[in-house]
Amino acid sequence: MHPIGLYIHVPFCERKCPYCNFYSTTKITDEIVDRYTNIACNTLIKYKEKMELSFDTVYFGGGTPSLLGNKNLIKIVKTIKDNFDLFESEVTLEINPTTLPIVNLKQLREEGFNRLSIGVQSAIDRELKILGRQYSKKDIENTIKLAKTAGFKNISLDLMLAIPEQSIESLKESINFFISQDIQHISAYLLKLEKGTPFYKNKSKLKLKNEDEEAEMYLFLVSELANNGVKQYEISNFALNGYESRHNLKYWKCGDYLGIGPSAHSFIDGKRFYYQRSLQKFLSGELHFIYDGNGGTIEEYIMLRLRLSEGINNKLFKQRFGINIPQIYFEKAKKFQKYGLTIVNESSIKLTTKGFLVSNELISRILL
Ligand code: SF4
Repeated sequence: MHPIGLYIHVPFCERKCPYCNFYSTTKITDEIVDRYTNIACNTLIKYKEKMELSFDTVYFGGGTPSLLGNKNLIKIVKTIKDNFDLFESEVTLEINPTTLPIVNLKQLREEGFNRLSIGVQSAIDRELKILGRQYSKKDIENTIKLAKTAGFKNISLDLMLAIPEQSIESLKESINFFISQDIQHISAYLLKLEKGTPFYKNKSKLKLKNEDEEAEMYLFLVSELANNGVKQYEISNFALNGYESRHNLKYWKCGDYLGIGPSAHSFIDGKRFYYQRSLQKFLSGELHFIYDGNGGTIEEYIMLRLRLSEGINNKLFKQRFGINIPQIYFEKAKKFQKYGLTIVNESSIKLTTKGFLVSNELISRILL
């Protein structure tokens, strides 16, 4: 089987950020962390016995994977290396500046981690405070410095847009800081109010941005990054040439991936399945995944690929489905061209940056 992606969901956080609804728990003990690690390793071995798998990307996400500490992270990576072929893999670790004291980045680099994704969000201390983040701009600088000293040459930073009290000026300051750090990749997300989070409950008290302000920030970000040679390759992702996230590209290109850990999703051989959002069930050691139907349909492929700046094109579509992109999609996408939302020619369809701003609505109108 061709190499696929491997995602490890690490469901631990030091404390819950008030806007976040990713699956994670703050009830952590050494025993739970060790048990999680053992189950993750055993689960990988069970997959090896069930399927012929090899990986060319590995992504430790969360949660806060760096909370596992070196011992456990290395144990999982060794299990992967001992049991599967890793084809010049991109191996990413999400880290949080506050967890620096518990990880030795140099050792992780030596053991095979070669990409870091640092959950920064903003370079403005006041905005970090609003987001409930427990570090400062100085800590971020220190984390990046240590990462580079440890030998990481592929570093991604997360940036958040539409933070309460954020302005175009403060966003510019964060962007300038990111650029000055000489890193390779930026993921930028608009703050979303997720049901059940403290931000959602207190939304009337937060000075939230309206849609026009969000759009202004997004368009400003795209243009500032482009001016600095950091190219947009997906709605929320920007990179120097050659540093696009190989792992995340698998999701948008409808490639196969295996997800391990509570709430992790998988897509293998046209089938989607996922683990429940339950650490307890995961720790029971059974493969408690839930079948989520067939995936990789034409509609799904178009929906995911239109998130990419390169959009969809006939050549790749034909390679995958054996037919050209149905004309109906060209006709529908063309209707939005005059509004500057799509770019359509005889063999490809792309969304513009303005189109990305309304991508959900736009893609569903093209597909309906
Ligand atoms: S944003 Fe990150 S660190 Fe904060 S609670 Fe969510 S997963 Fe944990």
